[in-house]
Amino acid sequence: MSEKYIIAHDVGTRGSKAVLTDSQGRVLGSAFESYQVQYPQPHWAEQDPQDWWRAVTVSTQRLLAESQIAPADVLCMIFSTQMLGIIPMDAEGTPLRPGIIWLDGRAAPQAQQLMRKLINTRVFAAVVGAEATGKDVLPKLMWLQQNEPDLVAQTHKFLDVNGYLVYRCTGRMVADWTAASGTGVFDLKSKKWDDFLIWFLGVPKDKLPDLLPSTEQVAGLTASAAHDFGLLEGTPIICGTGDVLAAAVGSGAVGEGEGHIYLGTSGWVGVVTEKSPTGRYGVATIQSADPTKCFLIAEMETAGICLQWIADQFYRREQSDPEMENIFALMDAAVQEVEAGSGRIIFTPWMYGERSPVSDVYVRSTFLNLSVDHQREHILRAVYEGVAYNLRWILEIMSHKFGWQQDVIRTIGGGARSDPWLQIIADVTGKRVEKVANPQQAGAVGAALIAAVGLGVYPDFQALKKVIQVTRTFEPRAENARLYNELFDAYKKVYRTLKGIYRQLNQEHLSR
Ligand code: ADP
Repeated sequence: MSEKYIIAHDVGTRGSKAVLTDSQGRVLGSAFESYQVQYPQPHWAEQDPQDWWRAVTVSTQRLLAESQIAPADVLCMIFSTQMLGIIPMDAEGTPLRPGIIWLDGRAAPQAQQLMRKLINTRVFAAVVGAEATGKDVLPKLMWLQQNEPDLVAQTHKFLDVNGYLVYRCTGRMVADWTAASGTGVFDLKSKKWDDFLIWFLGVPKDKLPDLLPSTEQVAGLTASAAHDFGLLEGTPIICGTGDVLAAAVGSGAVGEGEGHIYLGTSGWVGVVTEKSPTGRYGVATIQSADPTKCFLIAEMETAGICLQWIADQFYRREQSDPEMENIFALMDAAVQEVEAGSGRIIFTPWMYGERSPVSDVYVRSTFLNLSVDHQREHILRAVYEGVAYNLRWILEIMSHKFGWQQDVIRTIGGGARSDPWLQIIADVTGKRVEKVANPQQAGAVGAALIAAVGLGVYPDFQALKKVIQVTRTFEPRAENARLYNELFDAYKKVYRTLKGIYRQLNQEHLSR
């Protein structure tokens, strides 16, 4: 039998990446198509759903042309998409307005109304791990109800980004469990919409789509969709997932209690578990791509972007050198020349407010304890270490408040390409850090493997542990433990000491 292939799409904020993999998730080719975000008003962020469609179809055509794969050899297709978007669809399947995407914070007043409604009710603890924000789905739905009631009346179903693409492929309007769990009105135990909450919050239940697990085959490609992709009619479409959950699978940390750190532009710590503990301390519990498991996630707003910022501000001259191939490689080498602790400078990586370990939109970054002896490289290493302190704080919360006990953690995302950074994270957190092959591709690989489980290539998610290769491990070094314990203790005090000042400096300014 000839080899068969999976096409997986990682549909992000600035573009969509299509990858072609074999049934073991090995990437054989990829194609990227970009699109725009529109910012029609302050705090708004919208995208044209047709742009997502163009990106996934054009990138698929390119992938097929470049790889010379016969459409008949494509086993299935799957999408892993940006989460927390909302697209009102009419009964004919046309979007009634541009998609409101995750970045959009217009619904901040509605988030406040929601919090007021939920406070002192038994539902408060059940629904909201962290404070609801204007970027969450329910406040966005409330915004539509209050500001565009006629449009809501015309809406047949509210879809998310994945739901929209699956609909265009198959003609079925569904929500995958992971997307549904991001709304706050999904019951993680019964895997159904939460009727009580829906009633309590006045959500129009008839406008919510049917629910399916990420691994389920929704239907085959319709003739017209098949034409757009250059694939065969009837090619199976697997239900798919939110991008966070695909990345989790791509990390290979898929067993009970196993976790990973994502080091991309933002960052997070994610843990797969059978339990569905109530979220708090900025830790949310959502559905995992594995239908039998939940996923604890603590997100930090800014991780890799702190390194990007220092590259842009402190290494401009080096970056402008035409010979310079990768500024991060130069920074990585420089970091290794500086002693652990960066001459006792502490950097807090809260460059855009923070979600976890502290939930605070007013907090910002600080370089603490600078002196005339310090050089640029001390400041650089302090940034690497600051992200690591924040991760340690999150891991401490995961352990103390959620009972998560693991001495090993996987790492994925662009930042996981940096070996010095992973060693710092191992030293600061005291955990063994494992790096997977192609960490920046983990999301796309994870999506393809979810499809492979859905097709029965693997019996379950446990079987994927053998598929994802660990290429390097970083053991915590005892000689740095005392120093890092001391600096970590100080790190946590920075927030407690300065949070009032951050609020004083930023509250009025940011509310304008
Ligand atoms: P996202 O998809 O969330 O935008 P990526 O996973 O592509 O992010 O990661 C981007 C980040 O990865 C950058 O902000 C940068 O900090 C980091 N990064 C990329 N390459 C390297 C490298 N070679 N060494 C260290 N960090 C890197």
